Amino acid sequence: MVIVMGPQATGEDVEAIVAIVQAAGVEAFVSRGVQRTIIGLVGDVEQLDAPNLRSMPGVADVMRISTPYKLVSRDNHPERSTVRVGGVPIGPGTVTLIAGPCAVETPEQTLEAARMAKAAGATLLRGGAFKPRTSPYAFQGLGEAGLRILAEVREETGLPIVTEVVDAHDVELVASYADMLQVGTRNAQNFALLQAVGQAGRPVMLKRGMSATIEEWLMAAEYIAQRGNLDIVLCERGIRTFETATRNTLDVSAVPVAQRLSHLPVIVDPSHSGGRRDLVLPLTRAAVAVGADGVIIDVHPNPAQALCDGPQALVDGDLEELAHLLRTLPPVLGRALVGDVLTV
Ligand code: PEP
Ligand code: MN
Repeated sequence: MVIVMGPQATGEDVEAIVAIVQAAGVEAFVSRGVQRTIIGLVGDVEQLDAPNLRSMPGVADVMRISTPYKLVSRDNHPERSTVRVGGVPIGPGTVTLIAGPCAVETPEQTLEAARMAKAAGATLLRGGAFKPRTSPYAFQGLGEAGLRILAEVREETGLPIVTEVVDAHDVELVASYADMLQVGTRNAQNFALLQAVGQAGRPVMLKRGMSATIEEWLMAAEYIAQRGNLDIVLCERGIRTFETATRNTLDVSAVPVAQRLSHLPVIVDPSHSGGRRDLVLPLTRAAVAVGADGVIIDVHPNPAQALCDGPQALVDGDLEELAHLLRTLPPVLGRALVGDVLTV
């Protein structure tokens, strides 16, 4: 961390800063220039309160040199990571398709959606049993009964399960069924939940908070990592902007930015980004082209009757095009669809 003093700063201002940082066990190196004084800090600067320092007399700016997240940072881990979910890799060099219904509704609907997902090339099945709904009157998910259906469908199809957990108290229960725990956008800064999934012994898919900066997203991942779990996949799912034509705005640039800052795999959710079926394939194309390590896509056998997010679910007629896209685009970019018999 570097503290830049303003031209009007006095010797006492500098001494006051030095006293504060030294009291915190951090070393301070003062460089006095003709115009300004700069104080370089070395040591555990995380415990210093940067906004407080910035507000002290004579201070012009406080700049971080290293990132505030450590375990998920690429600084200390230059190689990009691969996370394995029930044996299925998500990471560099490949594209992994996760697909399934937004919500588990019935055994038949879930099995049929899983069949659709598999036909499109999916190697992981998504499906929510605990749904984080904006309205308390909307379908909240089947809870444990939904988890049991997912487990049966896994048995039937061989697809490992990705499913959301919305409450820290349910982590143990959901982890007893799931191959990967999903933390959704509405819980992306629920720190108690992040800590609980950090201890659950399962890989975690962490969606980006709908209004979170990339740094806040990575700090949320750091909460999980700090509890000992580095099997984290970041998921860009669109952010809230002034645009109302789409449900959210897919932040395409977040993919390479997050991949540069963090060693964790980054996937994209084109379904929840656009919120519209007709946008899913174009946004999937964008996601793969920009370097996403996978995509997570809603499919439903009968979207008109879906209890959650029907308008964005792909139907049978869309699957061939999705499968074609995921088999043809990644190889052009030197990558392969995971599970693709033609390319593995
Ligand atoms: C979901 O994937 O079912 C979901 C609720 O997504 P998000 O948290 O991105 O809204
Ligand atoms: Mn949904």
